Amino acid sequence: MFNIGTRLFSLKPIGIGTGIIESQTSYISRLSEIHSVTVGSLIGKELASVLAKKYILKSSMEGGSRFFDTASELNGFGKVAEDCAKGLEILTGGTDLKGLTLVSWNHMIPPRGVLREKKAWCPECLENWKENNQDIYEPLLWSFKAVTFCLEHGTSLQNRCPNCFKEIPILTRKTRNGFCSYCGCWLGHSKISIDGVANTQPTSWEYFVVTNVMELLVIGQVSLLHCEEIHAFIKSLVDSNGGKGAFSRAVGIPKTTVRAWYDGNNKPRFDTLLIICFGVKQQLKDIVTGFRGTGNCLAVGSELMFTPKPVKRRRPFDQDRTESVLKEIIDGKVNPPPSVREVAKSLQCDKRLLYKHCSKLCKAVSEKHISYVQECRSKRINEACLKVKDVTEDLLNQGVYPSRRRVEKILGSKLIMREKPVQTTWHDSLQQ
Ligand SMILES: [Zn+2]
Ligand SMILES: [Zn+2]
Repeated sequence: MFNIGTRLFSLKPIGIGTGIIESQTSYISRLSEIHSVTVGSLIGKELASVLAKKYILKSSMEGGSRFFDTASELNGFGKVAEDCAKGLEILTGGTDLKGLTLVSWNHMIPPRGVLREKKAWCPECLENWKENNQDIYEPLLWSFKAVTFCLEHGTSLQNRCPNCFKEIPILTRKTRNGFCSYCGCWLGHSKISIDGVANTQPTSWEYFVVTNVMELLVIGQVSLLHCEEIHAFIKSLVDSNGGKGAFSRAVGIPKTTVRAWYDGNNKPRFDTLLIICFGVKQQLKDIVTGFRGTGNCLAVGSELMFTPKPVKRRRPFDQDRTESVLKEIIDGKVNPPPSVREVAKSLQCDKRLLYKHCSKLCKAVSEKHISYVQECRSKRINEACLKVKDVTEDLLNQGVYPSRRRVEKILGSKLIMREKPVQTTWHDSLQQ
């Protein structure tokens, strides 16, 4: 496994040649794990040393968080992803790690808004890999905003930690695949515990999106994807559907936008492109590779068979699971206790629905959250009072008048001095 002449093991990426190819951030995380170092030190010490583009890693080495805040770029279309892949290739002796990113998609679509800023995952995939002693990884597929469910399990992708309810960053200094980087909770679970909530049939739209992204991921690993074919597709679509005006009305997209696409001055966003392809029942891979079928509405110039806004799936409400989640919070097993709104978000349901089905439990959760918030607030105020007293007395001892502005400056916050008890403390200390 250890290549002569390379600093690190030549770890093989998972899922090469398939639609569930590993993401570069997942690869970095696994690479750190097999070397028993944190992601932070792998990037700061190893990757930084081989990358000529030091600016990328400057923040990482200096302890800043900018590098990690924009970590989704490591899986993305641009220079950051490409440079990082090159660096990893030098370190591991691996080849073509670009396949773990969307660098080959760069000319096909505008990159903005394609990838998620936070993690999403299929809990059943994770659980399965763990049970079968397979490597735990995160497919690039999961980082697409448009992808919402797992084709293998028919499970909705999750995006909040089941324990602390937080959204999880793509990469942190201590990231481990399959774990929450805040509370360390394992993110996988089996069908039984999420029965009814997640295992619903995907809508035809969700199915369309996942299969299309997977197909493109396969092609993107072996060839560069271009925009020319997409441009030609849009043009023929507009022409065969009554021109720009008629097309614009049919799909509900402004005519100026349609014109810009038509003239090749602008490229359709990925989600829009998917909606259009869905409407005309074309696989995006066929368009990109120039294999548009005959007999479709384009070729015969018939009307667009269109559903401009794909229908969203309604999830059945899972009473048992919801109750058990709420009870855990009431029993103090979740720290800090989240608000009902946060719980609703993590269960991917509406807050009103939650109140409707479990009103007593919701009220208890809400009370717990409120009292926690109040507790934090009074703790903060008490601490501030003590500090204000100290600061004011210090200044008086030094013979300096402790004006409000001076005290605020030392405290480093103006907000806290707006609190009544803090002001009273300041006044009282002045009197003495
Ligand atoms: Zn799955
Ligand atoms: Zn967590």
